[in-house]
Amino acid sequence: MTDCIFCKIVNGEIPAEVVYNGTNVTAFRDINPVAPVHILIVPSRHIDDIRDPRAFEDDVLKEMIQVANQVADMEGVAESGYRLLVNYGPDANLVVPHLHLHLIGGRPLGPMVTRQA
Ligand code: AMP
Ligand code: ZN
Repeated sequence: MTDCIFCKIVNGEIPAEVVYNGTNVTAFRDINPVAPVHILIVPSRHIDDIRDPRAFEDDVLKEMIQVANQVADMEGVAESGYRLLVNYGPDANLVVPHLHLHLIGGRPLGPMVTRQA
């Protein structure tokens, strides 16, 4: 996709701190991290989001999770723990329409979702 920011990162057209560069999957540091470790794991070819049928072809999601675990090892958070999450739609605040898995760790993350007051 020509106008997709994550496609541009995968293709090296805009800078990012890439930590894993594979044929099918790429991982890079989030530009606005919420924790000491915050890495985005993306398919190297464009897939819109978690509801895109292409996400279920070629074991791409499986490989994304395998890469996430491998990056967690590299980042030293395998023992302390980490969170993998995917946003979809406005209530979840999906911003970038290129499928991505957030790998977040390096500090206690607290409850998964803050309860409403
Ligand atoms: P989401 O809300 O799930 O769509 O998350 C998108 C994430 O992409 C956010 O955490 C942003 O900080 C991150 N992001 C946006 N632009 C860039 C960029 N150029 N490089 C790295 N991360 C980015
Ligand atoms: Zn894309």
